[in-house]
Amino acid sequence: AKKETAKVEEAGHTKLGIDVKKDQDLSEWYKQVITKSEMIEYYDISGCYILRPHAYAIWEIIQRFFDDIIKGFDVQNAYFPMFVTDKALNKEKEHVEGFSPEVAWVTRSGSTDLPEPIAVRPTSETIMYPAYSKWIKSHRDLPLKLNQWTNVVRWEFKDPTPFIRTREFLWQEGHTAHATDAEATEFTFLIQDQYRRVYEELLAVPVIKGVKSENEKFPGAYFSSTIETCIPANGRAVQAATSHHLGQNFSKMFDISFLDGEKKKQYAYQTSWGLTTRTIGVMILYHGDDKGLVLPPLVASTQVVIVPIIKTGADNERVLNKAHELKAELKKAGIRVQVDDRDNYTSGWKFNHWEVKGIPLRFEIGQMDMDKNQITAVWRVNSHKEAIPNESIIETTKLRLKEIQDLMLTNSKKKFNDKIKPASTWAEFMTSLNSRCIVYTPWCNEISCEKAVKERSALESKGTENESGLSGSAKTLCIPNEQEPIAEGTKCFSCGKPALKRVYWGRSY
Ligand code: AMP
Ligand code: ZN
Repeated sequence: AKKETAKVEEAGHTKLGIDVKKDQDLSEWYKQVITKSEMIEYYDISGCYILRPHAYAIWEIIQRFFDDIIKGFDVQNAYFPMFVTDKALNKEKEHVEGFSPEVAWVTRSGSTDLPEPIAVRPTSETIMYPAYSKWIKSHRDLPLKLNQWTNVVRWEFKDPTPFIRTREFLWQEGHTAHATDAEATEFTFLIQDQYRRVYEELLAVPVIKGVKSENEKFPGAYFSSTIETCIPANGRAVQAATSHHLGQNFSKMFDISFLDGEKKKQYAYQTSWGLTTRTIGVMILYHGDDKGLVLPPLVASTQVVIVPIIKTGADNERVLNKAHELKAELKKAGIRVQVDDRDNYTSGWKFNHWEVKGIPLRFEIGQMDMDKNQITAVWRVNSHKEAIPNESIIETTKLRLKEIQDLMLTNSKKKFNDKIKPASTWAEFMTSLNSRCIVYTPWCNEISCEKAVKERSALESKGTENESGLSGSAKTLCIPNEQEPIAEGTKCFSCGKPALKRVYWGRSY
C-alpha cells in the first residue's frame, strides 16, 4: 500500500516537491523548503521551532568546525546557568536598556510566586562576569578565554522567521578578558575572521567584514565588529555574526580587575562574540532553488546518496550489493554517504526526495551501469549528469565535492556582488534600495544622520510594498574594515556634511 501512495504522489507530484517558485513567493517557498526537507517542524509557541536531525546535523558540523578553531586559540569551553537575577542583569546600564524589552522572566514555580523573578539569559555577560571578577586577580590570570555552546532566549517582537530570527536560538558565546586594549582589539577581529570562514568556507556564503555604527553596536560595547550579507532573493540584509570589543565597560561594573607588573590595579579589556543557528537560514536562502534545499558539500550531513535502480526482471541482488559495497568504500574514504535501498518507494520518488533535501551528489546504479563498470552521478546544484568509472570513484567523488563547494561559493559571490550598489546622493540611494539592493555610500558617521535616514527611507517607501516587494526603513549594516580613503570634499549622501567613512545600508531581516 505504501508503494501505491508513493506512486500517487509521484504522479500528482505535489506533496513531496516544492510547489511554489523561489522568485514568486520567497516566504512560502522558505516555509515549504524547511518543512519538506525535514529540517523544521513548527511548534505552538510563536518564534520557537523544532530542529529536526537534517537541520541539527548541520549545526553540529558548524560547531565542530568553529570549536576546533577556537580551541586552537586556547579558548576553553564551560557552562554557566541560564538564569540571571534582576540585580546582575541591571549592572551595566546600556546593556540592560538594549536587552530589557526582549527578556523573558520566570516569576513562579508551581503555584508559588518566586521571591524575586529571575530572567532567562538573552546573552551571558551579566551571568559570567561576576565569576570572572573572582577568577581574575593578577595579570597572570590573563588572558581568560571561555566559550559556551547554549541556547538563549530573546522575546523578539519583529516577525519570527525560522533560523533567521527566533525567540529561542542555539549559539556559541565566547567571552574573553585581556590585559590590554590592543590585545582585546586583535582578538575581536581574529574572531570576526573566523566567522567569515564559517560562512565562506563551510556555507559558501560571502560576507563583508566591518564595524557597526554607534546606533547599531551591541548594547554596552565599546565597538562591535560584524560580518554582513544580503539575501539575493529579496535584497534583505542579514547580520551574520558579531564580535564585540567591550572595552572596560563591563569590567568596571563587575570589578574585573588585576594587579599589573607594578602592583597597580587595572581593569581588564573584554570581548564577547556569538554565532547562531541563523547561519543555517542564511545558507538555505542563498542556495535553495525551485526543487528545494541545495547543501554545500562541506556542511551536508549526507554528501552522497546512492540510489540502486531496482527493476523487475533485473539482477537486483547484484545491484544492491554493489550499492552497499560502494557505500562502505566511500565511507572508509571519509565521505558522508547513504544508500536508499527502501523497497517501498520508486526510484523517481527517491530522486525527488533527496533533491528536496539538497544532497550534493546522487549516484545511481542500475543494471546498465553495472555492465559498464560505472555509476551515474547527478549534481544537485546544476543537474549536471556524468558517468564515473568504478576504478576512479573515490578520487572523483572527492574532487566533485570540492568542485561543487567551489562552484557554490563562486555562484553566491556573483549573486552577492550584483546586490551591492554605490550611491552618492539621496535619490540614487532610494533607487538602489528600492531595487532590492544594499547601498554603499560616503557618510558623515553621525548618530543623528543615521536616525534621519531611517525615518526618511521608511516614509518615502510607504505604499511601495507592491512595486518593490521591500519597504521599511534602512539602517547601516557596517563600516567595512577595508575601504578606500575618502577624497577631500566628499559629502555625506544624506546630510551633506563632510563624509568620514563609507558605509553599507540596507533593509534588514
Ligand atoms: P548579539 O549577541 O546581539 O551580538 O547577537 C549575536 C548574533 O546572533 C547576531 O550577530 C545575529 O547573527 C544572531 N542573532 C541575533 N538575534 C537572533 C535571533 N533572534 N535568532 C537567531 N539569531 C540571532
Ligand atoms: Zn550624514
